[in-house]
Amino acid sequence: MCGIVGYCGLKQASNILLEGLKRLEYRGYDSAGIGVGNDGKITIIKKKGKIKDLREIVPPDLRGFWGIGHTRWATHGEVNDINAHPHTDQTGKIAIVHNGIIENYMTLKEKLSSEGYNFITETDSEVIAHLIASYYDGELEKAVKKTVALLKGTYGIVCVHADEPGKLVGARNGSPLVLGIGEDEMFLASDVPAILAHTKQVVYIEDGEIVTVTPNSFNTTDHLERNILKTVDNVEWELEEIEKGGYTHFMEKEIHEQPESIMRAMRGRLDIELATGHLGGLNLSSKELLNIERVKIIAAGTSYHAGMVGSYLLESVARIPCTAELSSEVRYRNPIVEPKSLYFAVSQSGETADTLYAMRELQRKGATVLGICNVVGSTIARESDGGVYIHSGPEIAVASTKAFTSQLTVFYLFTLLMARMRHMSYGQGTEFARSLSKVPEQVKKVLDKKEEIKELAKKYSKAKDFLFLGRGINYPVALEGALKLKEISYVHAEGYSAAEIKHGPIALINEYTPSVFLVSDDSLRDKIISNLKEVKARKGKVIAVAVEGDEEVAEIVDDIITVPHTNELMYPFLMVVPLQLFAYYCALELGRNVDQPRNLAKSVTVE
Ligand code: GLU
Repeated sequence: MCGIVGYCGLKQASNILLEGLKRLEYRGYDSAGIGVGNDGKITIIKKKGKIKDLREIVPPDLRGFWGIGHTRWATHGEVNDINAHPHTDQTGKIAIVHNGIIENYMTLKEKLSSEGYNFITETDSEVIAHLIASYYDGELEKAVKKTVALLKGTYGIVCVHADEPGKLVGARNGSPLVLGIGEDEMFLASDVPAILAHTKQVVYIEDGEIVTVTPNSFNTTDHLERNILKTVDNVEWELEEIEKGGYTHFMEKEIHEQPESIMRAMRGRLDIELATGHLGGLNLSSKELLNIERVKIIAAGTSYHAGMVGSYLLESVARIPCTAELSSEVRYRNPIVEPKSLYFAVSQSGETADTLYAMRELQRKGATVLGICNVVGSTIARESDGGVYIHSGPEIAVASTKAFTSQLTVFYLFTLLMARMRHMSYGQGTEFARSLSKVPEQVKKVLDKKEEIKELAKKYSKAKDFLFLGRGINYPVALEGALKLKEISYVHAEGYSAAEIKHGPIALINEYTPSVFLVSDDSLRDKIISNLKEVKARKGKVIAVAVEGDEEVAEIVDDIITVPHTNELMYPFLMVVPLQLFAYYCALELGRNVDQPRNLAKSVTVE
């Protein structure tokens, strides 16, 4: 679930491992550790808590040019020093780090225990170390191969043996693993940011592969011992992109990057001249696109909310029946795949387990699934039948912001493309494309409101419950606003269709429960104003995100944040930004850890 770094080369491994782990902090974790090889032994140092706590107990002169590091997000066994990784076998010669869950660890543990292997942690991961030991006869790679053949579940693993200096053996199934190639040095990591300071040359390890690495070589095989020819990719991200660049938090930085990241998502794809979208990666001809009769979007969390906006657009603008569904639900309900349906799997990291497994299930049933991902080379990006990168640049904060608006951008482009192939006229298409092209500038204007929003956060952050209410295309935005607040400020918030409150949630309204209403100037405006008045009539406090110049709304509500006027379909971009800022400033007011909120992880690689 969390992070792995491995190193072999000419430099002091402990520094590289600690620095790599620091870069993975954003993924969320509860303990960390390193294992460094030298002189026929592996020195293990691990600790519950943050990397800085670990750093304090690592001797500055710890020698050794190869080793492994781990940030743990506990799934099996308490969060404590002993359960932190790396784990070793009884001799202490073998050390492993593991991301993921070994589902059959109990059976393996019972068998190994009966053979005399002594377990000292409560983790599922420890079985890996003992299994390797049970097979070891002088070649780590061979023992790892035999071991992984017995493992059920998900894993990214890196192992070392004290008697095989400078060698790392990695394996993966369902948890990402990437090899970084440097000069006389190599890296294995769960995530590119861990190694970006050292190299941009990477090789993505696939499920079922085992990679053996020395400072000057790597060799990848599958479980049948066949050598696999790997291609070396060049990472496009720059080091500055994974640093804070003057902002206090990554989330703050990423919110502010949106004018640029939205622009990047449409660059080369939005064609105002021809009033259409170009999405090369779809791998579908115009004919195939024209034959599509239904679109289904699967996703989780924030990506699901982007998918809901996408489904609204595709249906109302491109006139293609479309639904967005939670991938975790799709996977297990034996979904029906219709021949003329097209699926989208949406995931920032491209590693979201729920979405990945649902995608595989759909593909088994014959579906064409396109990915909408941010991380290049991620599992969903590679295994999907085609897709679109959102090009947000690295999103480090756990709470997603810029990836959401970039995912939206892709859905707007796809809608334009599909609509223009069907009934949308050139004139209508031009109007849509023009409005979309203005979004980055308008988002900038909304960001200028941040001081006002900060004041609002000061005023309301002590409230225990919030309602976020929107209708039509802004309904998913209300859900997203509530999710943002929950995620980083731990304040209870519910998102609803504003129409829905009278069917239940209005019972919660009193002077202590503020409601955030999204009021755009579309055909639903008057309806939403009625909903708003229903809340006011019950002494509820109302904050409105409304359109500049809407005096009527300004007069009824307690507080108002305005956004520029736009085409009614474009409001999700403008309305979500104040909600992101509101959540951010509330979290600051409440003294929360904004970038690494409790219990959450950035890329959720367990089901
Ligand atoms: N399942 C393992 C544990 O609980 C690994 C968790 C992780 O991926 O960090 O220790």
